[in-house]
Amino acid sequence: MRARSLPVSVPDCIFCRIVKREAPASIVYEDETTLAFLDIRPMITGHTLVIPKSHAAYLEDLSKDSSGPILETARKVAAALRRSGLPCEAVNLWLANGKAAGQEVFHVHFHVLPRFGGDGFGIRAGRGYGRTPERTELDGTAEKIRRALEDQ
Ligand SMILES: [Zn+2]
Repeated sequence: MRARSLPVSVPDCIFCRIVKREAPASIVYEDETTLAFLDIRPMITGHTLVIPKSHAAYLEDLSKDSSGPILETARKVAAALRRSGLPCEAVNLWLANGKAAGQEVFHVHFHVLPRFGGDGFGIRAGRGYGRTPERTELDGTAEKIRRALEDQ
């Protein structure tokens, strides 16, 4: 397990600046450890970001105690979106963890995305995927992940 201390905030991190109210945001929810606010480039109306107040660049940088509250806040926001009157028949949670996954702000954040029929969203499988692999291939992949989990 990696042991390192995480900074509470990073001066030039836009999300840390929002937490400190040094940058504007349309905030929808706040508690002791999390903050939820609207994405300034929404993919759909109501597109909300949920962040830990303490700076962490990646999901795996979060402490054991701080990951749970983020999902709980995402749960609350998802439930609120369904009751909000905005078009929302369903919700996607999305977390881009690293540049190759589409992360643009390196302060971990969940996207909470309202969905409705015909909204035009879609998730494409990676090149060469979208198939059902043989069990041996799945078992081999699972073994690699299990071994990596033992290191934590
Ligand atoms: Zn930050």
